[in-house]
Order: sequence, then C-alpha cells, then structure tokens
Amino acid sequence: MILEKFKKKQIAKKSADFSRWYIDTVLQAGLADYTPVKGCIIFRPYGYALWESIQKELDGKIKKMGAKNAYFPSFIPEKLLKREKEHVEGFSPELAVVTIGGGKKLEEPLVVRPTSETIMYEMFAKWIQSWRDLPLKINQWCNVVRWEKRTLPFIRTTEFLWQEGHTAHATHKEALDQVRKAMDAYIELYRQHLALHGVAGYKSASEKFAGAERSVSYEMLMPDGRALQASTSHDLGQNFARAFEVKFQDKEGRTQYVWQTSWGLSTRALGGMIMVHGDDNGLILPPQVAPIQIVVIPIFSDSKGESQVKDFINQIKLQLSGFRVEIDNRETYSPGWKFNEWELKGVPLRRLYQRSRLFVQQNTREVNDYNEFKRIMAGPRGFIRAFWCGNPECENKIKEETKATTRCLPLSAKEEKGKCIYCGEEAHHRWLFAQAY
Ligand SMILES: [Zn+2]
Repeated sequence: MILEKFKKKQIAKKSADFSRWYIDTVLQAGLADYTPVKGCIIFRPYGYALWESIQKELDGKIKKMGAKNAYFPSFIPEKLLKREKEHVEGFSPELAVVTIGGGKKLEEPLVVRPTSETIMYEMFAKWIQSWRDLPLKINQWCNVVRWEKRTLPFIRTTEFLWQEGHTAHATHKEALDQVRKAMDAYIELYRQHLALHGVAGYKSASEKFAGAERSVSYEMLMPDGRALQASTSHDLGQNFARAFEVKFQDKEGRTQYVWQTSWGLSTRALGGMIMVHGDDNGLILPPQVAPIQIVVIPIFSDSKGESQVKDFINQIKLQLSGFRVEIDNRETYSPGWKFNEWELKGVPLRRLYQRSRLFVQQNTREVNDYNEFKRIMAGPRGFIRAFWCGNPECENKIKEETKATTRCLPLSAKEEKGKCIYCGEEAHHRWLFAQAY
C-alpha cells in the first residue's frame, strides 16, 4: 500500500525570486547542505556525483595536454607566499593562517593554500635544471581556502574544490600556447559537457590573477544578468620564475628563467550549471553530466498488475543498457511524489546548449552612451559591449558608479576605432562589462 506520508517538496519560483530559488534547489535536490562551519558547504552524494562527472571529463583533457597529476601539501610556509609581491598582496585579505600546531605556537605560520603557485614553484626550482626537464606540466585536484565575507553554495565558499594546472616552459611562445590550450579545454568542457555558453577573453590589468602577466577567463551570464567567471588560464611570464629562481640551462649552455602558466576550474562550474539550466520545477541537468539519465517509475494497483509491470520494466532495462537508469521501486512514496522529486533533481532529458547561447546573445548589448550604460546596469544588467580606453581610472569609476567591472576583452574582439564610454578618449576595443558574482 502506498502511503502519502511525505509532503511534496516546495521550492520558490525561479522567475519570481531567483536567489531563493537557487538555494531551495541546491538544498532540496540534495546537492549540498550547510555546515556548522560558516561559509563552507557539504557536497552531498548527488552534488558530488556532478563534480565527479566534470572531473572525469576534464581529467582526460588535462592528460591529453601532457600534464600529470600530483598532490602537494595544503599548508604553505608564509615566507614562500611572500616571495612574489603582487601575489601575496592580492591574496592577503582572504588567507587562513595556522599559528598553533601540536599545542605550540609555530615558529613560522603556515598558510592554508589559497592556490598553490608558491609551494609548487619552490619544488620546480629543484626539479628543473636543463632544457631536457622542460616542459614540466603538473596538475592537482584539491581543495583551497579563501576567507570569503559573502558566500553562496558552489558559487563562492570559503573552502572549495578545483583543479590547478601548473606548467614551466623554455620559451614564452610555448607558455602562451599552453595558456590557450587550457582555455580551449575549459571552453570545450563548458559547451559540450555542461551545455553552457560563455565568452572567453583577456582580463584587464586590475582584474587579472595576482602575479600574472595576463589572464584569460571564460565568462558566463547568469539569469539575473550577472556575470560568472567560470575558469581562468594565466600567462605568468617569468614573474614567479624570478621570485623562486626557477632556472634552466638552454641548449647553448646559457642559464635562463623558465616561462610559466597556471590554470584552474572549480566547483563554481556546478553553481553556473544549476543557475542557467534550472526552471521553476528545480534542477535541469545536461544528459552528459546527469548521474541518472532516465528514471522508471512503476505504477500498478494490485499484485497481478505489479508482476506484469515488473516484467515490462526488466524488458526496457535491457533496451536502455547504454544509459544511466534508475528504477524507483520505493514503496513508501506515491508515483506523484516521485515525479515531483525527480523533476526537482533534474532527471528528464533536455537539449540545452542552444538555449544557453541564445540567452547570452539576447542579453549582450552594444552601448555607446554612458547614461544608457548606467540605466542597463540598474535594470536588466547582462553583458555590455562598450569601448574602454584602457585607463584603470575609468575602469574604477565605472565600477564605483555602476558596480559593473570589465569581464574580459573577448578573444574574438577585432580592433575598432571608438571613444571610451567613460572619458571619451580614443579607444581601440569593445570590452565586455557586467556586474559579477
Ligand atoms: Zn577612458
């Protein structure tokens, strides 16, 4: 006998209250839960399975690029972090620092890694001696900690999971090639595996990674019109090589500094996927990433019917052997309750990439007038394509007055003649602006 003893799960409407809908969906679909630790979440099995799917797909691409997986400690001696000036300045406000170990005050504090450039390159300096040791390509899947004031599950949490790739090369050209290859792998993962459209481009000097020469990012647009930086790839130049003395002897016997890159993609990808694809009924998952692609819910009224239905299910199970199928035999729930729950968990199959691309296109506006820029940022938001002269002062004023930052200079951007949206001075490119998460 079926007991209607559990109430249907309720979530806010996406169209009516987007923030509430997002939290409701994350919690009710069983993806994550809050913890006693402020700003941190638990990845529940259904949510972790989504991350595993991303890991599996991306790990294959990373290995194809010739990078090998390794694991470095999560503690970094403070003095290592201080060696690259811009790097430590960028990360200082969000560091967690261990000062007591084994009941004693530590002689030197240990920083819980916010990212692993410094600890890795200390070792790279030891491992790299000659051009024969290059290129060196290391990737690690791990957790990192950045003390965040405002947090949101998957999008911004104090501790999060990611992969970080780190490479060293003999020439700048090779390093730049690697920066692009890593970004291409991310673009492919987002578009083909997660059905998420976005724009890849260069960050401005004030928005780039602390310590990098130049950063490339993949910027996506969320349904509330705010941008989400969904992965980054950095040209580190020789900045860290000089700070950490990572040198090699070239073929002519001369000593040279290596050229380095780093690139990362985090569990933030899950947040973007939930926000973009979901609807009023909850989660919608791209088939490639869905832990369960098809659910079969048996409906019968007596024991004769039950045996017929079970025979039939065994037949379809065989026919669906290429898919990830779940037979929902739970007796304590009614079929109606099950339909509602699986809808919330995003099981029905859908084609999603075209919809995601259309949304980005429809919410990207070319703007030449600063008043219009302000109106859009106070209203529907979205991406704005506008000329910027390159002066950080204009960038800063725009940020102060509209909360919008330069997201990137799209890789596909062509040189054009125009006037800076803020100061009216000569500008050569339309940058992508948006308010960001
Ligand atoms: Zn300007």
